[in-house]
Amino acid sequence: MNAKDLLPYGLGNPDLVEIQKGYFVDAEIVDDLNKLTEDCRKAGFELRIESAYRPFEKQLSIWNRKARGELPLLDGQGVPMPLPTDEEELMYAILTWSALPGASRHHLGTDIDVVDGSSCPPGYEVQLTPAECTGMFAKFHEYLTGRFSGNAAFGFDRVFVPGRGKIRPEGWHIAHLPTSRRRLENFSIDALRSIYENTDIACKNVLLARLDSLAEDYIYPYFV
Ligand SMILES: [Zn+2]
Repeated sequence: MNAKDLLPYGLGNPDLVEIQKGYFVDAEIVDDLNKLTEDCRKAGFELRIESAYRPFEKQLSIWNRKARGELPLLDGQGVPMPLPTDEEELMYAILTWSALPGASRHHLGTDIDVVDGSSCPPGYEVQLTPAECTGMFAKFHEYLTGRFSGNAAFGFDRVFVPGRGKIRPEGWHIAHLPTSRRRLENFSIDALRSIYENTDIACKNVLLARLDSLAEDYIYPYFV
């Protein structure tokens, strides 16, 4: 594959811009993101990024460390759980809270996790949870919802919404859809398969065996 074809999987060299300290996004979304940030500012909110571009290696490291018990593995309620010995069980347990390496939308450089910096208490460590969206950041999210439904968010919208695929809703995760659609045009599950075949990734056998069904549940529903 040439370098451009690798971009949807978090590989290759995307054209990134550091938009907030330590957070990088695709250069193509910068103008619209600045417009959305300014729009939020006028409404009294500080659009603060908590996660942005993430390369394949970073997602792979999260995946493998969870599989080895080096990062806590959480159940559906967010409670730490023992490491399953069955590889398939382990894979689905990791998928409860972590994206498949090579298929995270954070690979695209078009997706960011956001909070309202102006209503974040000093010293509070953001968790990115549904409780925050309906709690301290509720007004910000209500405002965003209005902008999205009014088609007034400069191409941004939520992706992980109820009723779509098996990834839990993530109100804090927004994407610049016109750009992400272009990035995903040439996404191929066969290419992802061959990346896994050549990668030291935990649960590799079951990942490869279940890849088609994983794509139906965790990848394609979010090509929006
Ligand atoms: Zn996210």
